[in-house]
Amino acid sequence: MVNSVLEYLPLRSLGYLATLPYMDHIVRDHLRRRIESTIAASGLHVQNTLSMMEQSGTVISGSAALEIAAPGLCSPNDLNLYCPLESYSDAIDLITQTDGYIAEQERTTTVAARRTPFSKLNVNNGVRRMWKFRHISTGRRITLTESLSPSPLAPIFFFHLTSLMNCVTGRGAVSFYPEMSEKYTVQALINRSKNFETIHRPLEVSKWTDRGTTIIPDCADTHPGHPSSVTRERRGMCQWSYRHTKDPWTTYLAFKKPELECDIGPALAWRLGHLFKARGQIKIYAPTVHLLHEEWHLRTFRLLEIWIEYAAPLDGDTSVIAPEAWRRSFP
Ligand SMILES: [Zn+2]
Repeated sequence: MVNSVLEYLPLRSLGYLATLPYMDHIVRDHLRRRIESTIAASGLHVQNTLSMMEQSGTVISGSAALEIAAPGLCSPNDLNLYCPLESYSDAIDLITQTDGYIAEQERTTTVAARRTPFSKLNVNNGVRRMWKFRHISTGRRITLTESLSPSPLAPIFFFHLTSLMNCVTGRGAVSFYPEMSEKYTVQALINRSKNFETIHRPLEVSKWTDRGTTIIPDCADTHPGHPSSVTRERRGMCQWSYRHTKDPWTTYLAFKKPELECDIGPALAWRLGHLFKARGQIKIYAPTVHLLHEEWHLRTFRLLEIWIEYAAPLDGDTSVIAPEAWRRSFP
């Protein structure tokens, strides 16, 4: 009985219940089963996958993590893994050693791009490289994305909707906008970018509205003047707010004791892309993501140009870099 009720609850509600006497272990067991069944559906070995994730700092995001953070919105078929910079080998070994999975080859070339001082991880939306795998009999797909940062989360803060900004770690689950998925219908802020249409797959937003997500293109329509960017309340509802991965608007629930602080690499800070309207003009501010405690402004002062290498895929026919396909790297 208790478990059939828990099945409907989003992550933040589970977190509240876990603080009640006698409920703690019931809720955490439920969360563990939710995560294990998601991994099992992909065909991967559950315990080996969780230990690989814990040891390498790899996380699950995309629709599979959304289904864990806010059940009932989608039925994920594919698994999207995100690993820290240069920590991809454990995940690749685990997937390729699983019966049925084969790597889908994609020719790539290495390119160097300049990072801007303010937005240190914005090169290619925080993605260094991607690997794709397909199961030969079930057709299920696994995508492994290597982050440009020692945190696996950098690409996640470039996703097009805040409802997708959730992840599953080797120890628990995290939702960065839990307040918006609390009412059995999910709300999502759009993460504006200058090339929104080319970065995100066409029809991606309408796919989610069809499933009942309420999209908020501009948070100014819900709170004129952005009170939440200056007060401490409800920053999780504002595109203008500066956030970081360990702030109080994030929900983290572990299924494994002891409950450590959510430890997925160094803390990242981010601000969503948003519209700025003044004197009849509309300007788009792109998302910014950087390491929270990095003195990036000082470093940038000394080192005027910071370059980062990443692997860009080549167009199969022309053998030239296909930036549009590459930038569509998101669920
Ligand atoms: Zn706002």
